[in-house]
Amino acid sequence: MGSFGNAGTRTKRVFKTFVQVNVSANEHLHYFITVLGATPLFSLSCEHKTLWSAQNLGPPAMNYDRIWPLLPTEADSNDDEYVFMVLFFAATKYTLRLERHDANHQVLEVVEDIDYESNFHGDKFREFFTVTTQ
Ligand SMILES: [Zn+2]
Repeated sequence: MGSFGNAGTRTKRVFKTFVQVNVSANEHLHYFITVLGATPLFSLSCEHKTLWSAQNLGPPAMNYDRIWPLLPTEADSNDDEYVFMVLFFAATKYTLRLERHDANHQVLEVVEDIDYESNFHGDKFREFFTVTTQ
């Protein structure tokens, strides 16, 4: 349990700051994001750019499911720092579950399994982790 912002709590069941992905063997990271409340606002960025956000994953939903890299250009460095950001504009709870999968979506490793909760509209949280690829 940790706290952030004015009213935020972060509950980590699994939290790793580093993951290695063998993309040449078609391993990938698989993001599962669950949202409670309205207007999900979250994004994933690397050191160089924003890769995706709630707005470009379609209409507001409770459950999001996104693999990385979806496009080869999303992995633009062999050693990159990623940040997953959540904003509590109207949503009150996010769960991030990040898994490393093989080419058949079999789980090789759980990288993150974390809840973020706040009922304060201005709160936000940034989760950082390093991803290396080979
Ligand atoms: Zn997968």
